This record gives sequence, C-alpha cells and structure tokens, in this order.
Amino acid sequence: MQHSPETSPQPADRVQRLKGLRPRRPILVVAGLAVVAAATTAGVQASGAGAGAGAAHGHRVMGLAPSSGSASESADPDAARLLSERGEDVAARGNERDPLEVRQEAEAAEAKASADAQAAAEAEAEAEAEAAREQAAAKAEAAAKGWVLPTSGYSLTGRFGKAGARWASTHTGLDFATPSGTPIKAAAAGRITSAGGAGAFGNRIVITHTDGTQTWYCHQSRFAKTSGSVAAGDVIGYVGTTGNSTGPHLHFEVHPGGGSAVDPAGWLRAKGVSP
Ligand SMILES: [Zn+2]
Repeated sequence: MQHSPETSPQPADRVQRLKGLRPRRPILVVAGLAVVAAATTAGVQASGAGAGAGAAHGHRVMGLAPSSGSASESADPDAARLLSERGEDVAARGNERDPLEVRQEAEAAEAKASADAQAAAEAEAEAEAEAAREQAAAKAEAAAKGWVLPTSGYSLTGRFGKAGARWASTHTGLDFATPSGTPIKAAAAGRITSAGGAGAFGNRIVITHTDGTQTWYCHQSRFAKTSGSVAAGDVIGYVGTTGNSTGPHLHFEVHPGGGSAVDPAGWLRAKGVSP
C-alpha cells in the first residue's frame, strides 16, 4: 500500500527493460521482412512469369518491400497479357476447326478410305477372275487333250504286235516296265467297269471311257480304286507282276468301242501323248 505504481521499482524496471528491447525489436522485424522480401523476389524471378503465383507474391511483398514489389508487379501484367493472348489464340483456333473444317476432313478421310477399299476389292476381284480364266484354260486344254500317260518312270519293254515266247500269239498291249508300287493312272476320264484277277493278266482294271473305248491296266500289285468314275490322271492302282509276268510292269491295252485291241502307242500319240 505504501508504494505507488510510479515509485515501484518493479514497473520502472520493466519499462527500462521494455525500452532496452524496443530498439531491437524493429530491427528484427525489418530483418525478417527483408528476408521474406528477398525470398519472395527470388521465387518470383525463378518461376519466371508464373502469373497467379507471381501476382499473389507481388501484392504481399509490395507493402513490405516496395522495391522488390514493383519488380514482381511489372512482370505480372506481361505474363497475364501473354497468357490471355495465347488463350484467345487457342480459343480462336479451336473455334475455327471445330464445326465445318473438322467434319470436311473426316468426310474426305472417309471417302478416301472407301475409295481405297473399293480399289482393293476391284483388284482382288480382278485377280480372282484371272485365276478363274487360267483354271478354265488349263481345264479346257486338259479336256481337249483328255489323255495322259498311265504311269511314270518307265521303259517300254514290250511293243504291241510283237511275237514272242511270253505271249500266246502276238502281244496285245504296251508294256511299261517300272518298279513295283509305282502309281498307275487312268489314261482318260471314264468309269471303272471291271477290277479283279484276270488269269494271265493278273490283277486288272478295265476303264470304259465316254466314247466307249476301254483301257486295261494289268499285273497290278494292288488296286487303289475298284469302281466309280475317274478323271484322267487319277491313281487307280500300283505296278506289280501278278499273272503271267516276268517282272514288275504295267501291261496297258486299248480296245476302241470295247472291241479288238489296237496299238496303245499309236492311240496315245493320236491323243497328243507320247509314251
Ligand atoms: Zn504286256
């Protein structure tokens, strides 16, 4: 109670302490602001013209450090203007392309694709037609000829009409000597009208052709086909030496109209085939 606030040593002491602190505080504050300003300026400059961030920094810095604030403020409008112009550019271009030009381009691309597909289809059709024409030509040629050799890899060992100890009278066919198992082929289109053992002829197939001519295939080791129609060149059996035979060969006979045998070599040559 005796002590007045003025005379109290405690408040005076506090004032003195506050006085002592007073000069120091602003320095600290100023130093702190300078650091903030420097950091902010560096940030603005480092980020170039980051428009939004630059503007925010600029406003805050302006009140504290006018010099650096003006620098960042001057960068902002340029950046904003540039961005704005660019934005308008992009928007303008977007608007130009959007409705008509894009649709026309799409239509053009579609038309080109359609034309390409049509050209490809036409080329394919043309190739198919060409293949069909070639096939037809080959078929016509085969049909015109109509006859093929009845086997392959042979040597002729017995001519037609040749007399010899092996045959009862004269030889009634043409002998194609070739290894056992060599395929025997129908000499022309027709129908198998006989297939089986035939005495001295061994295993024999008779094919009757459309003009009535019959061809015989004798001494076969086995048959590949024993009935039905055949095309020229179809394999009907395999060379052997069954029946009256001294070695593997095809004894081939030709009977025009189903009658007497004729020389197969002359017959084949007349059909465009040279045995
Ligand atoms: Zn013979």
